[in-house]
Amino acid sequence: MSSIKHTVAIVGYGGMGSYHAQLIKESDRMIVGGAFDLLEERRSLAEDAGYTAYSSYEEVLADPAVDVILIATPNDVHKEIAIRAFQAGKHVVCEKPVALSSAEFTEMQAAADAAGRVMMVHQNRRWDEDFRVIKAMYEQGTIGSLFQIESRVHGANGIPGDWRHVKEQGGGMLLDWGVHLLDQLLFMIDSKVTSVSSSLSFILGNNVDDGFDAILQFENGIRAIVEVGTTNFITMPRWYVKGTQGTAIIEDWSLRGRIVAPNHESEKIEPTPIRAGVGLTKTMAPPSEGATLLEDLPAAAELPSSFYDNLAAVIEGTAEPIVKNAEVLRVLRLIEAIFEAAERNETVKNFDIYGA
Ligand code: NAD
Repeated sequence: MSSIKHTVAIVGYGGMGSYHAQLIKESDRMIVGGAFDLLEERRSLAEDAGYTAYSSYEEVLADPAVDVILIATPNDVHKEIAIRAFQAGKHVVCEKPVALSSAEFTEMQAAADAAGRVMMVHQNRRWDEDFRVIKAMYEQGTIGSLFQIESRVHGANGIPGDWRHVKEQGGGMLLDWGVHLLDQLLFMIDSKVTSVSSSLSFILGNNVDDGFDAILQFENGIRAIVEVGTTNFITMPRWYVKGTQGTAIIEDWSLRGRIVAPNHESEKIEPTPIRAGVGLTKTMAPPSEGATLLEDLPAAAELPSSFYDNLAAVIEGTAEPIVKNAEVLRVLRLIEAIFEAAERNETVKNFDIYGA
């Protein structure tokens, strides 16, 4: 492995920008050269943390020691900052959502291509262990073929009180958590999305969605339900997944979860009817003793390297990006189809998220 370290300048030293500084410290392939933020107070914090605080973006771009620009600003300015970085000959790591639309992203890609520089989008939740456990189940058939995947994140804090409220700045939950959850599904499922239906919620009275649900139908038969909520005082499991040979749940990011599968060894015994509410049911009665097995979740699927190690290798031309720009474009187009389905209150089928 190459020992060259790449020097990153962080643009937007807010919540995520300062978190990137920690992530970069954990990588032995990258160092933080400095940071720039529009706000004086954030520049001071960068200085306090031991980094050079640049006084303008021009100063960042003019620094020959910097070879990578990390963009962690609000979403509406990603495009402009990235294009200027490419024109100055820098590589770019951009936070998600990389852009407000697929058209904007195409412009960014054109600028990267023209400059011959790398652009990688920080779709970090591909590395989340809960997701990689589901990915392992999908790839290994742990519970047979998956036919329904429900992916949810529920919070009770509303939309944070920052730019995430503002439509023009790329606020709203579909562009925030939606990007992660959709990226995970498209990264995992090797089949095309054929239809989308969705609804957005505006319970908090903002002009951006404070949550949404979307149903995606894949060509291979998988139906995915994706839901993000910010007014959920009781949360539902992070993952609920049904396969032809069992059902799996992952409750939360601590990986509490289980698989329940049919016990093929047991003799087929009819369940005993139970009183349920004021009625009687056999169909919904618990399976008879021994008819099912409780199993542990499988080990998480591995990715070839960490985000930053992969970035270094991509810059050096020795590896393919784990987050490919064609995949990022697909997610943005899917988001556009989801917005359209919600607006028309219809199932949308006539989209092509896969074209060039
Ligand atoms: P934030 O508001 O905490 O920080 C943004 C910072 O950017 C602020 O300090 C602001 O002053 C600065 N800024 C605004 N415009 C600028 C400009 N033109 N030049 C330089 N600085 C500028 O927001 P955040 O939560 O850190 O989010 C930043 C980005 O990171 C967003 O794109 C968000 O979606 C993304 N994000 C990603 C993850 C993840 O897990 N991948 C998590 C949180 C946020």
